[in-house]
Amino acid sequence: MIFSDIVGNEKNKELLKHIINSNNIAHSYMFVGKDSIGKLLFAKEFAKAILCLNKEKPCNSCKSCIEFDTYNNPDFSIIEPEASSIKIDKIREFTKKVYEKPVVSSRKVYIINDSNYMTKEAQNSLLKTLEEPPEYVTIILITSNENIFLPTIKSRCTKILFNKLTDEELKKVLQKEYNYCDIPKTTLKIADRKCKKSNKFKG
Ligand SMILES: [Zn+2]
Repeated sequence: MIFSDIVGNEKNKELLKHIINSNNIAHSYMFVGKDSIGKLLFAKEFAKAILCLNKEKPCNSCKSCIEFDTYNNPDFSIIEPEASSIKIDKIREFTKKVYEKPVVSSRKVYIINDSNYMTKEAQNSLLKTLEEPPEYVTIILITSNENIFLPTIKSRCTKILFNKLTDEELKKVLQKEYNYCDIPKTTLKIADRKCKKSNKFKG
């Protein structure tokens, strides 16, 4: 089931599930919240479900899902900062690709991770696409700092706010991933710091 492997932010799971089930998918989202609390995991699962070709989304068995899991889905892409910056050239390259029609699915999804690293010029370039997106495209901006964006970018995105994991949720992650049983509070604090460094929690 969608999001069943992700711990925490239960309300957002319901919200995103509803968006998928009602097929009421916006052109642009902004996932906002502190670093390392699972925003990228959510965005990827959401993207996979949007692109899935079957009714039960994500089915994990259609061409789109299989290609997604093997990082080969031509209708999906993640843009990441390079040397703490997303420059205009990268956004220009991306906007060109946006206008190429989807290949496997009926839609295309792009994630811009750590999108607050976009330069002002890059934001202006992205704005043009956000103003007139092709009907099949969804862009997810992931950020820990929404204040850095041009107001015109913010106003075009549907904002979804993510919360930090509670101690209880963190415990669940440790039990699931590392098979820990009894976890004292001090360990949770250390784990919280370690999780932030681990890829599992990136985004
Ligand atoms: Zn599928």
